[in-house]
Amino acid sequence: MTSRKTNSKSNKLESQSSYPVLESHLRCLKLPAMLSEYSQSARRCSADNASYEKYLEELTAIEVGKRESNAIARRIQAARLPAMKELADFNFAAVPSLNKAKVLELSKCSYIHSHTNVVLVGPPGVGKTHVAISLTLAACRSGLNARFFTAAGVVNTYREARETKTVLRLEASLARLDVIVIDELGYLPIDRAGAERLFGFFSQCYEQTSVIVTTNLPFAQWPATFAGDERMTGALLDRLTHRLEVLPISDSEESYRVQQGRKQRQKNS
Ligand code: ADP
Ligand code: MG
Repeated sequence: MTSRKTNSKSNKLESQSSYPVLESHLRCLKLPAMLSEYSQSARRCSADNASYEKYLEELTAIEVGKRESNAIARRIQAARLPAMKELADFNFAAVPSLNKAKVLELSKCSYIHSHTNVVLVGPPGVGKTHVAISLTLAACRSGLNARFFTAAGVVNTYREARETKTVLRLEASLARLDVIVIDELGYLPIDRAGAERLFGFFSQCYEQTSVIVTTNLPFAQWPATFAGDERMTGALLDRLTHRLEVLPISDSEESYRVQQGRKQRQKNS
């Protein structure tokens, strides 16, 4: 009983700060990482015989680093990715027709600064969405704002904005983005109104925002997705392809999961 009492007393003493004024200043200046780290950092610097300036440098670096990682986490959250897919986990050897060098170059994000679009075209299951998500993560990590939509999702978002009379607000929020993914274009048929909304979307992005499209359809088949309207599709492709990197994946490529399943069965047998 007595020892428990002594323990709680010493815990209390430990949690009491030796520098309440410093802590209050750090709170007032909104420097939470410095607040939580200053004492450990001081011990470290003192053991290393570091100068006061070095201590201040270390402490401010901790705050700056924490702010940067918080900002990245916020941008990733705002991108509303359906899953976290890293390029480091992508097995390029499984999709030899995908241009690995180009994907790695795109992951450096300079295409976004020139408002270049990207189209990943190929059969299902070959990693188009995985690569699009990885490129979105790379953008978020390099300080850019991104948003992931499915083609059906962006059409619905526009429809809802129309119904709630918030189209201007939606367009303003899209205009703040640097890169937008439109996943699975061509998987579901889109009616005339939906096609017009998609067309409006691509027009808004033209030379303002990079768009990454994933699709199973070669360009020649895009009119079918846009309610059979050749003229509208032509105008859309004109804008999209003005600055474009196409990443084709061969139709002969097998779905990654099917490949993995077959390898697993071979291992088991
Ligand atoms: P697609 O969009 O082309 O239909 P996905 O990107 O959705 O294909 O891939 C399906 C699943 O297989 C995902 O879980 C993805 O992470 C995984 N996958 C696909 N290709 C690869 C690859 N080359 N290396 C690692 N995982 C892959
Ligand atoms: Mg996909």
